[in-house]
Amino acid sequence: MSWLVFVELSAAFVLAFFISSLAEYVVHRLMHTGLINANIHADHHKEGGAQGWFLEFKDYIVPPIPAIVGVSALLWYFELPVAAASFAAGVVIYGSLAAYAHQLQHDNPDLCFWLPQPVHFTHHQDKMWHHNFGILVDFWDRVFGTYKSTDYLPGKKIYEYPLSAYFKIKWF
Ligand SMILES: [Zn+2]
Ligand SMILES: [Zn+2]
Repeated sequence: MSWLVFVELSAAFVLAFFISSLAEYVVHRLMHTGLINANIHADHHKEGGAQGWFLEFKDYIVPPIPAIVGVSALLWYFELPVAAASFAAGVVIYGSLAAYAHQLQHDNPDLCFWLPQPVHFTHHQDKMWHHNFGILVDFWDRVFGTYKSTDYLPGKKIYEYPLSAYFKIKWF
């Protein structure tokens, strides 16, 4: 792989993660203002459970398909086919990870090792309507000033869980 191709691939992948994480934040925040799927989201808060990794993934990936195709087609048009493929792959990978992060924080938030606190769990637990909209990342909450620390204490220490615990979520 040439150096330029590597740069093209990496830049498109980072761009996909950047845009996807921002979309995750914005869409969730708009759900709390009543502009998008307000009733469905209110039910999600009432029920407190998540629908399983697969259906979460579908919700992350199906609505933005026109945008994914549009951006990839644009990159293709500018003769950047590697970037086009990498961008599409990045969005799909982000969606699968975000779906996992969502399900994990509903099923066992102790395992959300990559964040200082499981933001989405605290969002539900403390009935937050104006804070902690991130799911896979908390970056945008920090940027837009909606990040809220809580006194979340894990039930068990992370090293007390076997590796298999990460697979014990509702998948379907
Ligand atoms: Zn919410
Ligand atoms: Zn949730």
